[in-house]
Amino acid sequence: MLIDLHTHSSVSDGTDSPSELVRAARDRGLDVVAITDHDTTAGWDEALSAAPSGLVVVPGMEMSCVGRGEDGDPVPVHLLAYLFDPNNEVFAGELERLRSERAERIRLMAELLAADHPAIVPDEILAATGESAGRPHLARALVDAGIVGSVQEAFDSHLATDSPYYVAKIDTPLELAVEMIAAAGGVSVVAHARARSRGRLLDPTQIRELATLGLDGLEVFHADHNADDTRFMSDLADELGLIATGSSDYHGKNKVLELGEHTTEVDQYDRILAAASRVP
Ligand code: AMP
Ligand code: ZN
Ligand code: FE
Ligand code: FE
Repeated sequence: MLIDLHTHSSVSDGTDSPSELVRAARDRGLDVVAITDHDTTAGWDEALSAAPSGLVVVPGMEMSCVGRGEDGDPVPVHLLAYLFDPNNEVFAGELERLRSERAERIRLMAELLAADHPAIVPDEILAATGESAGRPHLARALVDAGIVGSVQEAFDSHLATDSPYYVAKIDTPLELAVEMIAAAGGVSVVAHARARSRGRLLDPTQIRELATLGLDGLEVFHADHNADDTRFMSDLADELGLIATGSSDYHGKNKVLELGEHTTEVDQYDRILAAASRVP
């Protein structure tokens, strides 16, 4: 069984449409794939109805949260959510707020970039962001305009958190997000918590606290985790009795990651299914 529980479509900042994504997943030999676009469930219907036979599509999402960094200051954290009720009013309202934060923030960054780089046209970028705007959309525009050579170079320069073009957004507090996902019948998994190449890290003490508040799992196997960090996350999941997942974080052409590059063990996937739809 090949199980990949973290992928993005063009509904957020990937480049495959949801149908292309599920077909590509089957072509790669996956048995299970989760669609986890940033802060939106807009790709679910297309992905589920386009699922080729032999492939199970798990409806999911990657939620933009804010946690406590190892230095005590706020740090952005991504929280994967699976199999929740997308019509839960409180949760759907919070997701709508996150998406408008995203759109507003990408517009501000695009305007700052445009002031120095006339080839950047904010309206064009915003028109091409799907349901959920993100920095990868700006990265594409910077590459297409010839301002940088690659998406990676864009993230290392103009889009870095210490760049003058960077604008922060107001994300959901991690504890609140865990509670909201549970209240909507879903399963919560902290994504790539040791991805040190992305910047400062989440305080593991907060992971211990979240485990007592209903957090279900940790993403252990991920391209941004080195061997030591993978072992650290795996040990932490064991110690706290949390589900351990692995996944590609595939973004189509916006990242150099392949579907199924990292995968989840079937016993851990079964725990996700068992944890879903429980009465909160
Ligand atoms: P945002 O959520 O708009 O702040 O953008 C962050 C997203 O950009 C992440 O979810 C990643 O998918 C992507 N990302 C972050 N760092 C990089 C990088 N160095 N290269 C390519 N994509 C990145
Ligand atoms: Zn992304
Ligand atoms: Fe992420
Ligand atoms: Fe992701």
